[in-house]
Amino acid sequence: MNPMRAPGSLTVVGLGPGPDRWLTPEVADVLAQSTDLVGYGPYLDRIPHSFHRRHGSDNRVELSRARLALDLAVAGRKVALVSGGDPGVFAMASALFEALESGDDPAWADVPVRVCPGVSAMLAAAARVGAPLGHDFCVLSLSDNLKPWDLVLKRLRLAAEADFVIALYNPISKARPWQLGAALDTLRTLKDAATPVVLARAVGRHDEDVTITTLGDCDPTTADMRTLVLIGSSQTRLLPRTDGNGDAWVYTPRGYAPAEVA
Ligand code: SAH
Repeated sequence: MNPMRAPGSLTVVGLGPGPDRWLTPEVADVLAQSTDLVGYGPYLDRIPHSFHRRHGSDNRVELSRARLALDLAVAGRKVALVSGGDPGVFAMASALFEALESGDDPAWADVPVRVCPGVSAMLAAAARVGAPLGHDFCVLSLSDNLKPWDLVLKRLRLAAEADFVIALYNPISKARPWQLGAALDTLRTLKDAATPVVLARAVGRHDEDVTITTLGDCDPTTADMRTLVLIGSSQTRLLPRTDGNGDAWVYTPRGYAPAEVA
């Protein structure tokens, strides 16, 4: 480290899925103390305008964004590298460590790095409908931009076989219009058609829309790139809901009945 230079730092933060009340006090402090914000433009737009220097970018350039954040920190800036939700879930924290591992600039190794957790979309979506993630679950990104589609299908099949509740991020986009339909078709061959499915769109935003359906009835065209999909296990069930916020709660009990465990 150059002793003449003011020490910079790099903190990786997640803003939560939506409203500011889902942004942790720790992340609010980091943002207040940062000089520079680096991230996908729409995420930076959620942070009130202030004295920060903003370095917004397109969604597809995670690695170059991580490099920029490291370069700024080496230059003495206090940098917040910003993701939505939690920064470790299909987000910038891994991109940062990929850049660090590449070692392209030896000065990066001296940057003090910290990762702060955030509320991930699956947690907010689950809370809206009750407790669907109350027993063992697994999480997949349905995007085949960064892994082969065959691997996605293999993981879905094995997750169904293991009777996990399944949370799907990145279910659909303009460039990936058919993947969710294909994933549901695969799961229908392995799971009961009555399995509860939740399509939680834009949770916490003004246009939030949460639909509870079944694997048999689920229409993939009702999901978009801001939707989180939850697919139940064999134990996930509905309870009548009387608070006016929907017809049913969705929950997965804490365990299996003794006969099913034996
Ligand atoms: N790091 C983020 C996930 C980034 S991947 C997190 O922890 O939440 C982007 C995907 O997250 C979207 O395609 C969608 O599946 C999900 N997502 C993000 N915000 C959401 C929201 N407010 N409501 C529902 N799903 C959301």
